[in-house]
Amino acid sequence: MKDRIPLSIRDDLGTVEPYISPQLPARYRLNTNESPYAPPEALIAEVTEELRAAALNRYPDRDAMSLYSAISKHIGWPVEGLWVANGSNEVFMHLFLGFGGPGRKALLFEPTYSLHSLIPKIASTVVVNGSRTQSLHIDLDRAVKTIEAERPEIVVVCSPNNPTGDCEPLSTVAALLEAAPGLVVVDEAYAEFAGPADTVRPLLGKHDNLVVTKTFSKAWRLAGVRIGYMLAQPALIAELARVRLPYHLSTITQVIGTAAIKHSTETLQLVDALRGERDRAAGALAKMGLKVHPSKANFVLFEVENADRVWKELLEKEVLVRNYSGSPGLENCLRVTAGLPEEMDAFLSALEEVL
Ligand code: PMP
Repeated sequence: MKDRIPLSIRDDLGTVEPYISPQLPARYRLNTNESPYAPPEALIAEVTEELRAAALNRYPDRDAMSLYSAISKHIGWPVEGLWVANGSNEVFMHLFLGFGGPGRKALLFEPTYSLHSLIPKIASTVVVNGSRTQSLHIDLDRAVKTIEAERPEIVVVCSPNNPTGDCEPLSTVAALLEAAPGLVVVDEAYAEFAGPADTVRPLLGKHDNLVVTKTFSKAWRLAGVRIGYMLAQPALIAELARVRLPYHLSTITQVIGTAAIKHSTETLQLVDALRGERDRAAGALAKMGLKVHPSKANFVLFEVENADRVWKELLEKEVLVRNYSGSPGLENCLRVTAGLPEEMDAFLSALEEVL
């Protein structure tokens, strides 16, 4: 028998922890920042009809032209500067496969969305952690120094930041764009819940190293479909075709995404209701004497004395929130997603009992 090669995982993946966010069967699921609202009925009806007529025996349109053109018109940015994938997670994977990789570095600012460090590591990119201030915003002075010392190929900003909730000032992003020798990627997964003044979209025309990522998973009420996209300079987008798999956007995805744009007004109308529930929850938590972090997203981060105990006891009352007790700097923190009014009532009264 030939000598076998030991089937161990790549050395640099040895310390990488898989993504974990428990999908537990609770009545009130307020842990993954999805929308509690199903997509509009008119969208479902249209998609059902289109899928009946779709040639599912054929491969999908490889360039997903209808979907690209719908998103491009909606956002007012040329098709050549647009990249669509299966959720913004896959957008990040493509970015790091193409522009990260062995010998390259990514700078990000913990605590932030866990995939922002996981995806670079999967793509063999060295992750450098920057600092945040007391208010949990990016510490700009230190970031600029770290950029000068480390010269990262990619700087990742999350605004609004998950799980802390607030946006970065546009002036911070502009300064990072000036300082960075490479790309600055701004993850705007929750930007629809913030105001129009908080999006970095206006900076796109002024900085050729800016990448903005967005998703259909939050305000667009389509987390189950998996659509995300990025906006950047066409020259950068053209390179990404090298790392995607052919036909990665299924016919089903393309049909639903295109229909979602058509029904955008109705879909996005509920953003206001979710903002209202977010602010109501934040107010009620503060009234309970808890420290609440300001949020412009569809969730609220708050502090309790024993996060593990409170999380477990909430779950016993059928309320599932996200526990950050294992995250450095957030040991006392829980995060609750803005849900339906009755879900938030259930959460608030369960929490009051637990406390
Ligand atoms: N970015 C941030 C900041 C997120 O919080 C999430 C979802 N938790 C995503 C991206 C993932 O988005 P998608 O579903 O588009 O992959």
